Amino acid sequence: MRTITHWIGGKQATGTSTRTSPVWNPATGAQQAEVALASAADVDTAVQAAATAFETWSQSSLSARTKVLFAFRELVNARTQDIAEAISDEHGKVVSDARGEVQRGMEVIEYACGIPTLLKGEYSDQVSRGVDLFSFRQPLGVCAGITPFNFPAMVPMWMHPVAIACGNTFVLKPSERDPSASTLVAELWSEAGLPDGVFNVVHGDKESVDALLDHSGVAAVSFVGSTPIARYIHERGTANGKRVQALGGAKNHAIILPDASIDYASDHLVSAAFGSAGERCMAISTAVAVGSAADELVEAVSAKARATRVGPGRDADSEMGPVITAAARDRIVGLIGTGAAQGATLAVDGRELTVPGHEDGFFVGPTVLDRVTTEMDVYREEIFGPVLAVVRADSVDEAIALVNANPYGNGTAIFTSSGEAARRFQRGVNVGMIGINVPVPVPMAYYSFGGWKDSLFGSSHIHGPEGVAFYTRAKVVTSRWPQAQGPSGAGYHFPTAT
Ligand code: NAD
Repeated sequence: MRTITHWIGGKQATGTSTRTSPVWNPATGAQQAEVALASAADVDTAVQAAATAFETWSQSSLSARTKVLFAFRELVNARTQDIAEAISDEHGKVVSDARGEVQRGMEVIEYACGIPTLLKGEYSDQVSRGVDLFSFRQPLGVCAGITPFNFPAMVPMWMHPVAIACGNTFVLKPSERDPSASTLVAELWSEAGLPDGVFNVVHGDKESVDALLDHSGVAAVSFVGSTPIARYIHERGTANGKRVQALGGAKNHAIILPDASIDYASDHLVSAAFGSAGERCMAISTAVAVGSAADELVEAVSAKARATRVGPGRDADSEMGPVITAAARDRIVGLIGTGAAQGATLAVDGRELTVPGHEDGFFVGPTVLDRVTTEMDVYREEIFGPVLAVVRADSVDEAIALVNANPYGNGTAIFTSSGEAARRFQRGVNVGMIGINVPVPVPMAYYSFGGWKDSLFGSSHIHGPEGVAFYTRAKVVTSRWPQAQGPSGAGYHFPTAT
């Protein structure tokens, strides 16, 4: 059995722990590898390597850092297919979708290539007679990233290119379910000329996460994952005096108004609900159909759901792959049954799907549940599978109120041809990322990504300008160069500008 090991100090490292976790091929249901699970001692080794590297990397020039970032960008671009295939084999998503996530991650690297501009400070000349005032930002030290299974390349890339460009060093603890993309990315950083120890990967579970949260050598923690763990990471990390940004789960609603094109909306809804088997934090899992839009919408999405080609991620014909584990499949199948038992109408039942030749794979077919109400488990829980719940509302205001009553606030969308309704929606929803006739409104890398409410703990969104601010701290310098050194008369009043 192949063992996936850590990457510490610029090379593979087996670590001291003998604990491992299986890595499955979700398309076949077979175990394909095992991943080492780091102990606290292994985490300490990685943090020490990163702390040593920080001494020189934090002093490197902006142009030296930029050269490495440009080289890294070229290597990720050249190796996109290899990274995508590694993702598809362990996550299950189709290769074209995995290529898309690498592309979105690469956009963050491109943003970080502009670090000399992003780190420009401010300068005020002559704030008082003979006095100038200026500010600049410096790196924090060793930063840690703890990431989820659903975007094994893109989500870590929301973090490490920006942190490293700012002069920090980094320890990544990726999901133990699909660890290989991170090792590949570590090799590319090294090939790009990043000094040893600046980027490290420790694989692991709760033990390694807790070791990072408690380690006095870690200055900041970026987390992306489910809401209960995000809340825990934020509480424990901040209790230990660290800067923490923790992005949590989601339950994203799309509102469809009667004036929308149902053909357009249903196309986008099925891709947003079933793309990546619904395992996206920005997946649309709830369609709020307003008034007369409902019947036509359910009919259209049901037809398109049934037509979705489900199969192994490596098969070029597949539009949707399996879910991540057998346990995830069983949970999703259970929730579909609960939805039907609690009174929803099962318009399309994905539990019936079989993929010939892949009977042991972790497949669930696209599922549409109509007439879902807010009390039902399928509405209340983040299903994280290919299940679209349709809730019916009488007006746009009722639909907006529904979005706002939900504890999550990651993304939301509206389908309409009314600018007035769209504007009311964009101003009125308590959600971080909003789409107007765009179902998965993931911002470009030069904006920051983040939700509201239970979708984010901490005040900082990720990547973009807020990412640069998160990975640096400011200094403000007040400076005077007296022409003639010597006594100028002591004054005991609080200094004010003259
Ligand atoms: P998860 O919370 O189970 O795991 C995320 C990370 O936390 C992993 O590295 C995992 O090893 C670690 N972890 C798990 N349990 C832990 C524990 N008890 N103590 C300490 N660490 C622990 O999430 P997942 O299942 O890998 O990913 C899916 C979730 O991530 C969904 O809820 C999804 O909405 C969310 N997500 C959110 C965003 C966002 O931007 N808000 C993006 C992607 C995914």
